[in-house]
Amino acid sequence: MTEQNQIKDTFGRTHDYLRISLTERCNLRCVYCMPEEGIKLRNKSHFMTRNEILSIATTFVGLGVKKIRLTGGEPLVRKDAKEIILALGKLPVELAITTNAILVDQFINVFKTAGLKSVNVSIDSLIEERFNSISRRIEFQKVKKNIALLIAEGFHVKLNVVVMRHVNEDEVTDFVRLAERENVHIRFIEFMPFDGNKWEWDKKVSFNEILSAVKSEFGDDSIIKIKDQKNDTTKCFQVENFKGTFGIISSVTNPFCGTCNRIRLTADGKVKNCLFSQDETDILAAFRKNEDIEELIRTSILNKKKERGGHRDFNDDFVEDMKNRSMITIGG
Ligand code: SAM
Ligand code: SF4
Repeated sequence: MTEQNQIKDTFGRTHDYLRISLTERCNLRCVYCMPEEGIKLRNKSHFMTRNEILSIATTFVGLGVKKIRLTGGEPLVRKDAKEIILALGKLPVELAITTNAILVDQFINVFKTAGLKSVNVSIDSLIEERFNSISRRIEFQKVKKNIALLIAEGFHVKLNVVVMRHVNEDEVTDFVRLAERENVHIRFIEFMPFDGNKWEWDKKVSFNEILSAVKSEFGDDSIIKIKDQKNDTTKCFQVENFKGTFGIISSVTNPFCGTCNRIRLTADGKVKNCLFSQDETDILAAFRKNEDIEELIRTSILNKKKERGGHRDFNDDFVEDMKNRSMITIGG
């Protein structure tokens, strides 16, 4: 792989991290992700088959992609998730997954065989009733058990928590406390606007508020800033003497676009060059017509805007005019 062959945008950012959504379906209905009325389920032919995922992923690897994260919808509800994970595990990439963990116990050995070591799990409350109300399903116990299983089995486990005003903001410090004895990494995510999730500026809890809550609980002096990784979207910290860490993803109040290296491939085979971009490039249609998808991928990334898909900030106009997909159909 020469540097010339890598996927670069006009701002000099190299794109070597691909997030593949395996499905738009899910066994939860999280309020911030899935519109209340649900989403229109489409015929299977609209979505990438296992072989198409593999071939397209292999093309990306040829263009310098070094990391692939599987997401969704819930990636593990896909019937051939096992075969896809095992096949992608053979590519020369770091393979990771973001999951709600409900089915994780059935996949532990698949993860191990595929060499998948890093698992991000979404959990927005440690209070059973609240978790069930946010996710509109009754799966708390299963999720909790499977997080414990992942930790016991030695996976690198991050817990994704979308922090929402008057919903779970009072649990920030309880989540951080989980990292006291367990090697677990808490990632607080500012609530972001997507189609159908009734986002309002006041519903997000900001980076500053989250950090202040942790500082006032554990003491200003015990919070250690950890050096950020090159393309990390998270500002990472550790409470002194804690085993795990915590971090904040501030896409709303302080975006991290400057070092973005991410490309998203939706389950229906569209390349999205940014979570917030409205442009999509239909790689799957081109692939099915035997067209050159490398050129399409490069062009999509060349069209990438500097910040947040070209939106300067999330003001009311942006939210009103938003013609983005709902998160469940993007793959977070
Ligand atoms: N089903 C899997 C899960 O929940 O982990 C993977 C897909 S989910 C769309 C990926 C991530 O996006 C989750 O961590 C979820 O919390 C996050 N997410 C979804 N909607 C969001 C929103 N409106 N704001 C911030 N994060 C969001
Ligand atoms: Fe499903 Fe994940 Fe969206 Fe929740 S956040 S509805 S688990 S895809």
